[in-house]
Amino acid sequence: MTGPLVVAIDGPSGVGKSTVGRELARRLGIPYLDTGAMYRAIGLLAERNGIALPIADPDQVVALTSAADVRVTGTESDARTFLDGEDVSVEIRRPSISLYASAVSAIPGVRRQLASFQRRLALSGGGVLEGRDIGTKVVPETPAKFFLDASLDVRARRRHLELEAKGKPEPFDKVRGEMEQRDRADSTRSDSPLRCDESYVRLDTSDLNPGEVVERCLAALGSLPGKPESQVGESG
Ligand code: C5P
Repeated sequence: MTGPLVVAIDGPSGVGKSTVGRELARRLGIPYLDTGAMYRAIGLLAERNGIALPIADPDQVVALTSAADVRVTGTESDARTFLDGEDVSVEIRRPSISLYASAVSAIPGVRRQLASFQRRLALSGGGVLEGRDIGTKVVPETPAKFFLDASLDVRARRRHLELEAKGKPEPFDKVRGEMEQRDRADSTRSDSPLRCDESYVRLDTSDLNPGEVVERCLAALGSLPGKPESQVGESG
């Protein structure tokens, strides 16, 4: 592929896309873009505007999205998200915002705006982009596509431990239930559902640690046609 290297990482929630994506970006020396953070920022905006779930008036969210300024730093070591200039990186991780993000992401007018912005960022500077539709919609032409997967129980256990480690514990059944609800919504929506096809390298991460997943991704990137191994690896 000519142009900057774009690596797509798609998969369901809690599968380790962020951990793997950041490390991969660091090793490759390219930007890191968490596209879910952008949907989360719009979800937060909807919540702040008093919009209830389920969303009754999608056009209201489309209008809010058009007027919003959502930015991500693009740096793996300091991946932050800004909404109209405010650093919302911590707030968008609230569990209630996960459900808002999933709800706003099913609205075609919201997806159109965010996906075209993400595509411009990817094509201008390259990067590791992680999300749900990167390899199907945002940059379908990239040959570097990974689909990370793991069972719902494994993913819910990871997220449960992560919330505990952050000092924000939630009951396991609640974490698992919300994850299942989000998985269902993300893979059954009509616009850009989460889907793995044969253009992806699919990796089941259930029995792999993040370092092992990164190594497998780097090995697969090294064997892509037109991608010499010397361009892939430690960037310093
Ligand atoms: O990846 P993360 O869990 O932060 O994403 C939050 C939500 O944003 C997902 O549940 C999904 O509904 C939505 N999303 C999306 N397309 C992307 C990234 C995230 O629809 N590319």
